[in-house]
Amino acid sequence: MSVSSPATRRYLFDLYGGTCAYCLTRPADHLDHLVPRAAGGTNSRFNLVPACTPCGQSKGALSVTEWVARLAAGTPTTGTGAPPAPTYQVPMRPVAHLAACAPAPAHPAAHDSTHAAPARIGSDLP
Ligand SMILES: [Zn+2]
Repeated sequence: MSVSSPATRRYLFDLYGGTCAYCLTRPADHLDHLVPRAAGGTNSRFNLVPACTPCGQSKGALSVTEWVARLAAGTPTTGTGAPPAPTYQVPMRPVAHLAACAPAPAHPAAHDSTHAAPARIGSDLP
């Protein structure tokens, strides 16, 4: 069973140009959960990124944070064990993607205009 609709899958693959969001070098071949299902992660598009098989197998059921920490420390990850390539980069694109999807702060001008004093037409009349 697919974890996402075809439209969501296409959107996420297009967002990353068909490249794995983790290594940014290999073509993605599946969607991976940033927060694993086992840890309560959902199938929401905000929790999915395109990934290649080596990265997906290395990450296994770890969260991205745990996985990157283990890679940085040189400790074994889950799945098939050692990271599949020495060219790993910190996965910045998923973070940027999530930041881009966060709600924008309210514009101060919009806030001020809702509380602006009403125009006092004719207030200078005797
Ligand atoms: Zn990869």
